[in-house]
Amino acid sequence: MTRSMALLMAALLVVSAAGVPVWAGDRTRPSGPNPYDKFRRQDDRSRSRGALSLQDELTFAEMAHQEISKQYRFVTDPVIVNYVNRVGRRVAEVSGRPDLPYQFYVVQNDQINAFTPGGGRIYIHTGLIKQATTEGQVAAVLAHEVGHNVGYHLSATLRRAQTTGLLVGIAGAILGGGAVGQLGQLAVALIANGRMFQRSRDQEREADFLGLYDMHNAGYNTEEMNNMFRLLGSLMQRSPGAFDKIFASHPPPTERLQNTQREIAQYLAGSDRRGTRTTQEFINIQRRLGVTGRALPPTPDDGDLPPSRNSDTATEPLPSRGREVTYDDAEEIFSRAGLQGVTPLRAVRGDLLGGNVGNDTVIAYERGGDVGALVDVSGRVYPLHIEDRGRHTPILPLVPDEVSAVGIVPVGRGRRAQVVVVSRRRLSYVWEWTGRGFRYLGSQ
Ligand SMILES: [Zn+2]
Repeated sequence: MTRSMALLMAALLVVSAAGVPVWAGDRTRPSGPNPYDKFRRQDDRSRSRGALSLQDELTFAEMAHQEISKQYRFVTDPVIVNYVNRVGRRVAEVSGRPDLPYQFYVVQNDQINAFTPGGGRIYIHTGLIKQATTEGQVAAVLAHEVGHNVGYHLSATLRRAQTTGLLVGIAGAILGGGAVGQLGQLAVALIANGRMFQRSRDQEREADFLGLYDMHNAGYNTEEMNNMFRLLGSLMQRSPGAFDKIFASHPPPTERLQNTQREIAQYLAGSDRRGTRTTQEFINIQRRLGVTGRALPPTPDDGDLPPSRNSDTATEPLPSRGREVTYDDAEEIFSRAGLQGVTPLRAVRGDLLGGNVGNDTVIAYERGGDVGALVDVSGRVYPLHIEDRGRHTPILPLVPDEVSAVGIVPVGRGRRAQVVVVSRRRLSYVWEWTGRGFRYLGSQ
C-alpha cells in the first residue's frame, strides 16, 4: 500500500455542500389541498372540448404543422424519428385519447422545449433529448404534451383567440364549422402572435397530472417524471438561457415536482420504484445526437439490459482516453479487480459518469482534470476531499487517464449504494451514497 493510500485509508471524507445551491424542490413538504383534485373527473375534460369537432382539430393541427415546418428544421434521421415516435406512442396509447393520429417530430434546436398545437402533433427539441439522462425523462415530456391533447387545451386556445379583436372574425367562423382556409389563417396568426402554445398554469398542471398516469400505465417508472423536473430546475439555475421562451408559461419545476411527488405518494405508491427508467436504445439515440457519456445505464428493472460478453481477454489493453468505457469493458475491469456485483456506469473518459441509486440519480464527473466530485441529479455537487487537521486534499489522486471504470453497488433495498472507482493500477476506491451525501469507505 502506498503512502497516499494509507493516508486515504486513515482519513475521513468530508462531503462539503458549502456554497452549493440547494434546490428546494425535495425539501418542502406539500401542504393544503392537492392541486390535481380538480382534474380527476373525465366528464369535465370531455366538456372542455367545447365546439371543436375532431375533424376541425385535425385540420387545424395539419395547418399548424405546415406553418411550424416553415419555421423549424426537423431531424430526418429515421432511427431518431422512429425512436421518439415509439416512446411517444407508448404513452399516448394508454392516454385518455388513444385514437388520435399521433405524430412526434424532433426539432433540430438545442434550446429546451417541447410543444403541441393539438390533433396529436407533438414536437420536441433535440436540446431536451440531449439534456435528458434517461428514456423515462423523454417519455415524461412527451406524456405531458399528450396531456395537452387529452385535456383539449386547443379548444381553450381557440376560445381565447375568439375574444381577441385581431382574430374575432376568423375564430368565429371556425367554431361554427370553419373552412380549411380559415383554419389555416388562424393557425398562422396564432403562431405569429405567440399565442398558440401559451397555456394557463392549470392547463400545465393538468398535462402533468395526465402525463404522470400515462407514464405509469405505459410501464415507465414515475420517478423519471420527478427527475425531469429536477433536471429542469437544475438547468434553470445553471443556464436560464437554455430555455425557449415558451417555457415561461409552465409553473416552476419545484412546484411541478411537489405536485407529482404528492400524487405518487397518495395514489401511485411504489410506481416510483418500478418500471422502465431507461433503455440501451436511448443511449444509442443520444450518441446519434452527438452526446457522449450523459445517459444513465439501464437497470435490471428496465428489462433492457446491455448485452453481456463472455471474455477471457484479460490482456486486452484498457481503452485510451476519450474512448467510451463500455459495459463490457467495465464488467471485465471489475471482474479482473475481483469485485463482485458492481453495475458499471457508462463512462467516457474525461466526461460524465452516471447511475441510479434507489430513487436518486448520481452522476460522478471530473472537474479540472481530476476525477473527484460527485453530483446528484438536482445539481448538488459533492466535492470529494480529505480533511486532515484542517488541510484539504483531493481524495482521488487520479487523473482521468488513470480511471478505468466507475461502478455502483446497491446496498440493501434503500437508497444506499457504493460507488466504486477502479484505477489503472487496479486499486479501487469505494464511497457510500447515504441518500444525503457520499462517505468514503476506503480503498482495496
Ligand atoms: Zn405544457
